[in-house]
Amino acid sequence: MAPFRRFASGLGPVFREALDALASLVFPAPCRICEGTLTTASRIPICSACLDSLQPLAGPACHKCGRPFVSAVAVAAPQPLCHLCRRDVYNFDLARSFAAYNDAMVRAIVLLKYHEVTPLGAWFAARLAEMVARDPEALAADVVVPVPLHVSRLRERGYNQAELIAQPLAKRLGLPLRSYLLVRTRPRPEKLKLTRQERWRTVRGAYAMRTDAKIDKLRVLLVDDVLTTGATVDSCAQALRRAGASRVVALTVARVAPGWLPGSQAGVAEPAKD
Ligand SMILES: [Zn+2]
Ligand SMILES: [Zn+2]
Repeated sequence: MAPFRRFASGLGPVFREALDALASLVFPAPCRICEGTLTTASRIPICSACLDSLQPLAGPACHKCGRPFVSAVAVAAPQPLCHLCRRDVYNFDLARSFAAYNDAMVRAIVLLKYHEVTPLGAWFAARLAEMVARDPEALAADVVVPVPLHVSRLRERGYNQAELIAQPLAKRLGLPLRSYLLVRTRPRPEKLKLTRQERWRTVRGAYAMRTDAKIDKLRVLLVDDVLTTGATVDSCAQALRRAGASRVVALTVARVAPGWLPGSQAGVAEPAKD
């Protein structure tokens, strides 16, 4: 690109404009994460280096909620549990996430959430399907359910980002997608950043089953984009369990684990959940 720019800048403005227009046809749009040139033809507007930086979580983690352990101390048991799961606080049976919420992931989630980059949802779905294939027993399910948005948010945005992941995931797993089982009954407060306590308070009881929904004795795969405190999927799991779901497994693309990742994760803003 650079030699082309040097060449173009030596020409008059009209020529330059024409050449820029031509360049936009010849050279594809830049990577939506690092703005580097996309060298491979792909439906995902992210370069391979940035996609590679979305690394799967692989370190020791809580057997139930998947929370990565900061130190190896707690990992002596064959199925170690975090301090929350030892107190059995969650209503879901298991939660797993594909990757850490690092800087590249923050941008990728923004593309999914605010720019409706559907092919990225399909790419994430493929990663989650790989996780299910690696652990088919623990992640087995009968139906796939995306975490719903409140109707006002859905109207404003026009789509639910969790569904952009859940829909292709259900297809890959050969399972029915049940987008309308759950409803968010209370909208998220307008405040962008919520503390841990506020997060739990605002989602507690904020999800309900539709009255005509049937979930009795079914195993549910609950899908969302980011797991922060686990409060959202926990609240959804509570509604599903009350309606008779036999098992609820939450799968998310990313997981916020402040203090766990090297680098400046403490500086990463808490993502605004819907
Ligand atoms: Zn890139
Ligand atoms: Zn745990």
